[in-house]
Amino acid sequence: MFITFEGIEGTGKSTQITKIKEYYESQGKEVFLTMEPGGSRVGTELRKMLLHVDNKDITPITELFLYLADRAQHIAQVIRPALEEGKVVLCDRFADSTIVYQGYGRGLDTQVLKQLNEVAVDGLWPDLTIILDIDPEIGLKRAMLRNIEDGKAKEEGRFEAEHISFHNRIREGYLTWAALNRDRIKIVNAAATPEDVFDRIKNVLEAYQPK
Ligand code: C5P
Repeated sequence: MFITFEGIEGTGKSTQITKIKEYYESQGKEVFLTMEPGGSRVGTELRKMLLHVDNKDITPITELFLYLADRAQHIAQVIRPALEEGKVVLCDRFADSTIVYQGYGRGLDTQVLKQLNEVAVDGLWPDLTIILDIDPEIGLKRAMLRNIEDGKAKEEGRFEAEHISFHNRIREGYLTWAALNRDRIKIVNAAATPEDVFDRIKNVLEAYQPK
């Protein structure tokens, strides 16, 4: 089973993914946690490049190909083998991030992105995708608080520095894209306590019927 998690910053994705891992493990399942960008050895290098480069030094197309390269390697070297070993794979961001960030966010053609994603994933699509949805004003506040609590500047500063209108576009993009892919993508309202959000996700996981 391959499940991906999406959403803007500050939705609590990583907290929820950890809880879901524990939930499946308590059922005796082996779980593999991974993320994009950066889920493979090559991907770790690509992540550094993607998160530290200045917007003025990278075109949206170059950025796109780096994300796709990261994904192709991640699928081939990490995700497909873990699924073949019978693990539940939980991935923090995947192909839908490309549609939403590079498409709705940076203005690239979503139909072209869909085709390029097909090449990168090589036939392996998630069984289920959960979008954690929150108002960007609240999400960004949460993300900033987390950084202060962590006592460090977040490595992903490049993205948090984007104007609020960018984050609003991303949120709207996720909602539009989810409406076009209702079978696979489910939206969960993340404006609640971590426990309540987890209960909502659990309902979605329990309602999922493998095809
Ligand atoms: O999930 P995480 O916060 O680590 O992702 C890092 C950032 O990379 C995201 O906040 C997002 O702004 C950006 N990103 C992107 N395009 C993607 C995937 C992630 O712009 N395809």
